[in-house]
Amino acid sequence: MSQILMIEDEPRISSFVAKGLKAEGLGTTVAPTGREGLMLALTGGFELVILDLGLPDIDGFTVLEKIRAQDSALPIIILTARASGEDTVTGLTSGADDYMPKPFRFAELVARVRLRLRPEAGSAPAPDPVLRHADLELDPLRHVVTVGGVEVDLSAREFALAETFLRHPGQVLSREQLLSRVWGYDFDPGSNVVDVYVRYLRNKLGVARFTTVRGVGYRLVDEKDYQPAAD
Ligand code: CA
Repeated sequence: MSQILMIEDEPRISSFVAKGLKAEGLGTTVAPTGREGLMLALTGGFELVILDLGLPDIDGFTVLEKIRAQDSALPIIILTARASGEDTVTGLTSGADDYMPKPFRFAELVARVRLRLRPEAGSAPAPDPVLRHADLELDPLRHVVTVGGVEVDLSAREFALAETFLRHPGQVLSREQLLSRVWGYDFDPGSNVVDVYVRYLRNKLGVARFTTVRGVGYRLVDEKDYQPAAD
């Protein structure tokens, strides 16, 4: 199992990410302070670091510089609420491999983690990241969706929702599953936002792609297998 070090002081975020990565077969160790994280990064044999910038003791940029001074190849992804372009530039020029602003989509974090993990010796090349279902294609890294080769403009949430369906074709996804995957740790379980966004996706990608499973949720289907719900 790949070992990932997450240097993050907010337990809500670190436990959400650690749980999600575990479900993806990735092991995570959490360090809640910069000093502990730095020590672990330099001694722990980790394969990748997810680094918060606002830490209670030393700043994330300092942690980044100190790791880079000793290990030039350890992949580091910055995950931070400081979303200014200036910080992005500083992060990348100080040696981070990638930069994700909070709030973030979990699926995108996983895609970026997988992209940056050093390939294991002798393992197969990284799989094609593009997700396909009938004539629908979604590229999670380039953030592009096409239907029959024609690009469709989706908002960030619509994109995340479409990606979740494409990762689980044919499977019934409950509203709760979709809420936790797309809206992350920031959702109200009573909200009807999933239904609203499925309607947006139907309008943009084709009504007959998403079947309503009454009382449960939704399913991505081939348009020829579409059964209109009775509701
Ligand atoms: Ca923080």
